Amino acid sequence: MFSRARAQMPALRQEGHVHLYFRVSNKAVTIPRTHGPPAGRRTSHHTCYKYGPPTEGRSKEGRDQLGRLLGEREMNELLISGAQLITLAGPERSRVKQEMRELAILEDGAVLVRDGVIALTGTTPDARRLTGPDVRRIDARGRVVMPGFVDAHTHPVFAGAREDEYEMRAAGMTYQEIAGHGGGILSTVRKTRAASEEELFQMALPRVGWLLEHGTTTIEAKSGYGLTVDDELKILRVIKRLNEETPLDLVPTFLGAHEIPPEYRESPDEYVSLVIDEMLPRVADGGLARYCDVFCESHVFSAEQARRILSRASELGFQIRIHAEQLSSNGGAEMAGELGAVTADHLEWIDGVGIDSLRANGVTAVLLPGAVFNLGLDRYPPARRMIDAGLAVAIATDFNPGSSPTPSMQMVMSIACSQMRMTPAEAITAATVNAAHTLGMGSRIGTIEAGKQADLVIFDCLDFRRIPYFFGVNHAEVVIKSGAVVFDRTGGCRC
Ligand SMILES: [Zn+2]
Repeated sequence: MFSRARAQMPALRQEGHVHLYFRVSNKAVTIPRTHGPPAGRRTSHHTCYKYGPPTEGRSKEGRDQLGRLLGEREMNELLISGAQLITLAGPERSRVKQEMRELAILEDGAVLVRDGVIALTGTTPDARRLTGPDVRRIDARGRVVMPGFVDAHTHPVFAGAREDEYEMRAAGMTYQEIAGHGGGILSTVRKTRAASEEELFQMALPRVGWLLEHGTTTIEAKSGYGLTVDDELKILRVIKRLNEETPLDLVPTFLGAHEIPPEYRESPDEYVSLVIDEMLPRVADGGLARYCDVFCESHVFSAEQARRILSRASELGFQIRIHAEQLSSNGGAEMAGELGAVTADHLEWIDGVGIDSLRANGVTAVLLPGAVFNLGLDRYPPARRMIDAGLAVAIATDFNPGSSPTPSMQMVMSIACSQMRMTPAEAITAATVNAAHTLGMGSRIGTIEAGKQADLVIFDCLDFRRIPYFFGVNHAEVVIKSGAVVFDRTGGCRC
């Protein structure tokens, strides 16, 4: 069986010199391995991460400028050819209805990357004619090439894990019962408060590795496990540092209103005031978040409290995302429409009025089916109804230590298809271009078109539908961020 499979799928060949790792300084940092073969043991499919902090505090933007300057003298070109190329070329906005099924696929497609930017797409014969002998080449025959995943809803910075609660849930306890015994979000809050900024950064690094190796190249990242002024700022600074010092792009969201901390249990409105009067201005002054989010739910923040926080956030220049109607129908989606939110997220309990409000106000529904799956619940968001009604829909992992501890957009696609009846094409659109537009990055990432950032993933599949179909498998073989290979499990590692 194995030899026949190999015969059908040619080995991925990399010709010429290919940058295998993202290097931004002489001081390479090795991300600690959390799985796979023991360190030091080489296999033909070993995985390496080697990237480090920029020297002299140079920003990503600074590196891009440097790249352009260097490019004038030394052209840096990479040609990936022979692939089923999922371009998602189309209008520069979120895709709706039938558009979500139109992936603009080029069979035997090729993409030329120049200095980290997509220079052209076309068929392989055309691309070969247009490129010179010095171009570095990846022969991707038998592979799918797609834009990197954009994960529009994550909580990646936290201390500890909650495998004990996972076991308790398996034994029959509910999420609410566990929270009542001091578990749930508050157990993560205790550990996160106790951790130093450096410790939180080190704990988050392997998660960044997980995201990259599963094909995710940009994420939205929320705070929300600190719930004090200092601890929320600490988490947002860690997100900023991860963005600066790893290849992953992180877009920060302030989620001080994630849970009511124990010290405000009897006076939740005082905590709302703390968020409004102290946290929001400090976060704004520090330029530490682009978005403000609130967990709007009956046992957490009411619609009225959420409205107070989000109205003030708007005045301070934040854009709005809302955790809405995850566990009950409480008008959260309607409020998201009224407040002009960019996204309303979860939406398991949304009704027709909510759907109308989101559509009328151009709010994207970010669906998180991994959380429903992992909590063992059976009520998924009505994705089919939303898409048919013309809503822009994105999907995301909700990566967090409680309800959805998965970094895999591929797994989320599988759940979206099998449980929410989205088609594989709709799931891909929701995981790339539509998600990019919720982050205000639709003109830069989310599709494979000339002029866009070269965030690309090569999957070891003959057809894009196999990505969700063979579920639980990581199909990502090579991950490219801004033109640089940051993950490669082909055995081509030369470190
Ligand atoms: Zn969330």
